[in-house]
Amino acid sequence: MIRVIDVDYIYQNPSGAVTALEGINFSVAEGQTCALIGPSGCGKTTLLYLLAGLLTPLRGEIWVGGERVCRPRRQTAVILQDYGLLPWKTVWENAALGLNLRRYSRRRQVEKLSPLLAALGLKGLEKRYPSQLSGGQKQRVAIARALSLDPDVLLMDEPFSALDALTREGLQQTLIEIQNQRRLTTVLVTHNIEEAVFLGQKIIIFTEAPGRVKAVLDNPGAGG
Ligand code: ADP
Ligand code: ADP
Repeated sequence: MIRVIDVDYIYQNPSGAVTALEGINFSVAEGQTCALIGPSGCGKTTLLYLLAGLLTPLRGEIWVGGERVCRPRRQTAVILQDYGLLPWKTVWENAALGLNLRRYSRRRQVEKLSPLLAALGLKGLEKRYPSQLSGGQKQRVAIARALSLDPDVLLMDEPFSALDALTREGLQQTLIEIQNQRRLTTVLVTHNIEEAVFLGQKIIIFTEAPGRVKAVLDNPGAGG
């Protein structure tokens, strides 16, 4: 489903060039969850942006779903670190942003979102604003928005890092259930080794900057 072939990425700044990734190679099978782990600054976020088509590799190729990634892809959903919720919009409106952009009718929005919000434990909170939600609830709204367009790939940057342990466990369990139902291929960035082992059927360990793949571990017991 995902193939990263010999990818390098260098940030060009006025103060000079920063090599973020060097010679990255790995693949993720359809339906698999892959955890990217490594020290701060090793290029995990950069790699997620590359997979999302928000950055272009300087060298090498990225393939997702049989196509070479050159720009954001409709079936790839991305959840960035700050959740990306609009504070002046309600839970429902935030979750419906993607469907609105695609001009789904009100009726089809309800058909898509109601079951998703229920599955994510957000039923009854539809009219709240983000400032009236806990961190875990905000993350659930971001997940609802990401899943509303039936993606086949989900990319998440440190999805649970701001949450307390109990909230984190609940949300991880919900995510595993949703993934297994939808056969989502997921890549998540984490610096929490327990999280990587719990969720990642494949674990990619990065070295210090510039990021290289140090090891790839298969962990078939994860995610279920
Ligand atoms: P991680 O997510 O693993 O913490 P990042 O992908 O954010 O790592 O960063 C990888 C490297 O690229 C770091 O050395 C970081 O300082 C550098 N970097 C990230 N973003 C930029 C940028 N916009 N300009 C220059 N250097 C950057
Ligand atoms: P309806 O108009 O469909 O009956 P409500 O206005 O009663 O819906 O709200 C539905 C749910 O959203 C309720 O559980 C309510 O607690 C919650 N809710 C709505 N608005 C807010 C708000 N401003 N702050 C907190 N919760 C809210």
